[in-house]
Amino acid sequence: AKDAGKGQFCFFETEMDNAVRVRRELEDDLREALTRNELFLAYQPQVGRSGAMTGVEALIRWQHPTRGLIAPNFFIPIAEQSGLIMQIGLFALRRAFEDSKRWKDLKVAINVSATQIRLKTFVEEVTALVKELGVNPHQFELEITEGILLGDDIDTQNRLAALRTMGFSLALDDFGTGYSSLSYLQRYPIDKIKIDRSFISNLGVEDEAGALVSAIVKLARAMKLSVIAEGVETDDQLTHLSALGCSDVQGYLFSKPVIANEIDDLYRDRHHA
Ligand code: C2E
Ligand code: CA
Ligand code: CA
Ligand code: CA
Repeated sequence: AKDAGKGQFCFFETEMDNAVRVRRELEDDLREALTRNELFLAYQPQVGRSGAMTGVEALIRWQHPTRGLIAPNFFIPIAEQSGLIMQIGLFALRRAFEDSKRWKDLKVAINVSATQIRLKTFVEEVTALVKELGVNPHQFELEITEGILLGDDIDTQNRLAALRTMGFSLALDDFGTGYSSLSYLQRYPIDKIKIDRSFISNLGVEDEAGALVSAIVKLARAMKLSVIAEGVETDDQLTHLSALGCSDVQGYLFSKPVIANEIDDLYRDRHHA
């Protein structure tokens, strides 16, 4: 038994070495991904009451030369720890700003990480990009997570306020999953809450999910905030959401995230319907 345990330990150690090595490799690769043009944005439609597309969320992707498509949950943390997040974040903003010109009356939502907004230069960089590309900040929504607000430093508050004054709206992403989402609504200038997918997937399965979504929708209404549900996959979930008063939705039921050209098609259909 002792030998077996020892063998296992070696096995795990090798696995761990391997994971560390892959991670280092990916960090180096990520540095080059920007110059090699391997990063791109996918867009997922956001849909309003009538089923019409009202906006899109930009979701970053990495087409790795040998490893294939890599999801952001995997490489964004690497970007944050290696300091590459600022460049990658600016890439996403630039690309979303450029693409937005094709969809004049769609809101374009962009994910911003905690690390990005903690950087002193963030507001300046965004301002410079807005000027350079001649976009109207009112067309954009910045999606932030509770991680951004943790620590509650005055600089972050000021930066968010400055961005909002410029015209950006602010959405609190993954709402309900954090420790103190409620207090943030009072302290930060939030315009919209995005109900986390975990609540939506349990709709119709667990009674508690319906009660929670209902409470979030009422809270949003009372605070005059918009509310959107993410991760809507089934008609049943959609029916529950409408009954609970949440008419803005996003999820595979309507579309997976797709490349900009496919949004063009949906946009064209909408305008020639
Ligand atoms: P998120 O902001 O919560 O984005 C929603 C995630 O759920 C996306 O995964 C999306 O593809 C997925 N999704 C959408 N609809 C459905 C559905 O109906 N069912 C299921 N099961 N999943 C659905 P994705 O694209 O892999 O992104 C993962 C996370 O990576 C995002 O979570 C966001 O936190 C982060 N991320 C993505 N793009 C960026 C970016 O440009 N910058 C930063 N800082 N983070 C990003
Ligand atoms: Ca998001
Ligand atoms: Ca989310
Ligand atoms: Ca989520």
